[in-house]
Amino acid sequence: MDDTRQVFGIDLGTTYSCVAQVDKFDQAVVLKNFEGNNTTPSVVYFGSDNKVIIGQEAKDLLALEPQQAVSFVKRSISEDEAYNKPTKFPNGLDPTEISAYILKKIVKDARDAAQNPEPVKKVVITCPAYFGTKERLRTRQAGEIAGLEVLAVINEPTAAAIAYGMKVQEEKLIMVYDLGGGTFDVTIIRVNGGTITVIATGGDHHLGGVDWDTALAEYLLSVYNKEQNTSYSLHSDEGFKNYLTLTAEEKKKSLSARDTVKAVVTYEGNSSKIDITRAVFDQLTEAKLDETIDKTREVIEIAKEKGFTKIDEVLLVGGSSRMPQIKARVDKEFGCDAKLTDPDECVAKGAAIYAVNEAFAQAMEEYAEGDRDEKPQMIAVANRTRVINVTSKNYGLGCKIDGKDMISNMIFANAPLDGNCRAEEDFFTIMENQSAIIFPIFESDVNEKEIERDVASELEKHTLTLTRKWPKGERIKVVFEIDIEGILHVHAEIGPDSIDFSLKLKGVKDDKEMEEAIAMVAKSTVE
Ligand code: AMP
Repeated sequence: MDDTRQVFGIDLGTTYSCVAQVDKFDQAVVLKNFEGNNTTPSVVYFGSDNKVIIGQEAKDLLALEPQQAVSFVKRSISEDEAYNKPTKFPNGLDPTEISAYILKKIVKDARDAAQNPEPVKKVVITCPAYFGTKERLRTRQAGEIAGLEVLAVINEPTAAAIAYGMKVQEEKLIMVYDLGGGTFDVTIIRVNGGTITVIATGGDHHLGGVDWDTALAEYLLSVYNKEQNTSYSLHSDEGFKNYLTLTAEEKKKSLSARDTVKAVVTYEGNSSKIDITRAVFDQLTEAKLDETIDKTREVIEIAKEKGFTKIDEVLLVGGSSRMPQIKARVDKEFGCDAKLTDPDECVAKGAAIYAVNEAFAQAMEEYAEGDRDEKPQMIAVANRTRVINVTSKNYGLGCKIDGKDMISNMIFANAPLDGNCRAEEDFFTIMENQSAIIFPIFESDVNEKEIERDVASELEKHTLTLTRKWPKGERIKVVFEIDIEGILHVHAEIGPDSIDFSLKLKGVKDDKEMEEAIAMVAKSTVE
């Protein structure tokens, strides 16, 4: 097989992860894990003797030994606190390292299933569209810690549209409604002869299937309490809570196929048999469904403001989209016939197609430069998909406005990352005899030109030491540029002095920390 196919697409999900590859028939296929399943629970259990268990077994151990297991780590990937050790996670690990363990296990299983001549190292990993720069870099680092070469980190809905977009040739506006295990994402995309442009995106990374599980778990507990004349709460005992949510998740999935299911709740020797109807389940979870609809409307509004008013297709993605309530409500609210295609697998498959494209482009470049003897074999799915993403946040420079510390936003959320995402602005020295200039860079969700600093997070601060002293009011030219992967590059100049930096973010590991993490993960056995 041509080596440009020796790449994986990875959907690193909040609750489940999935790996796919483009096979010799040019079809993106999911690679089964060791247990024979297409998806692996993103749960990590730290056993004794340096052994790390990932997947279903770890998920089963969540109820028994909650302090040794970690779930929903993706929800914490943006948290800085987790980097101040000792962390809330076992063994003092941080979310990037824990994510690396998940990647190590799923790639190991995928390699066994794929039986490629060489173990695959090159991967494309997906993340929610609204992830900021820091979360994207941490996702990339998780891959590198797992010993992988990360060709790109792309948006989940974009990957879904790639998997789907391969089938559409004419121009279409597609809305991807992605309700996963722990995150919700809506993205409006234009597909046009193989080019995919993200028009607008939004979401909530604390909204997903787990909230439906919690609502059902609370209901099961209330019925149990009533029958047994007890007053336990979901917070009384972590093991019991995990047991109830696991039961709820199982019953929720059954309710996607059946109108009524039975659950047995056993605690401290007493059992209750509880009937759950789909109608009751839908009622219990209606508020969560409403939240997704509100978010969807917001994203539709952004697209409208950009002149994109007619949505041609609605795609339902993410395992939770299997709940019949989702299609019913989306169809009703938006007057469409939403498609539910491969909701658990299309993200990984799209990532695999993207990965082949990247690998093919890389190989062609090597061939052109004489670093490769053989011309790479043409692949039917290669060279056909071009992705243009949009920024998920607003980026600005900290400056003084009317004497007050403020931020002047330069690049706004939803700007196309087409290689021309660039903004230039003039700033001015603020005092006489100024001999240095500080450049604090901020990221925020506030879509206005001038904003207060407390609504944004400071990503990084750089200082330009000047070779001469400047008077107050001298012009400083500042350029922000975001590359196609969403990494911000800054250039600033005043007279002969200039500074250039690409954002290396707080909470993103430096070279030494990466080396340590790579060594640590490499020596652990994952199962
Ligand atoms: P994802 O993050 O896309 O893998 O989605 C995982 C979520 O989908 C979890 O919350 C699962 O419980 C949920 N899920 C998977 N299959 C079903 C199903 N048949 N019905 C309802 N929810 C499901």
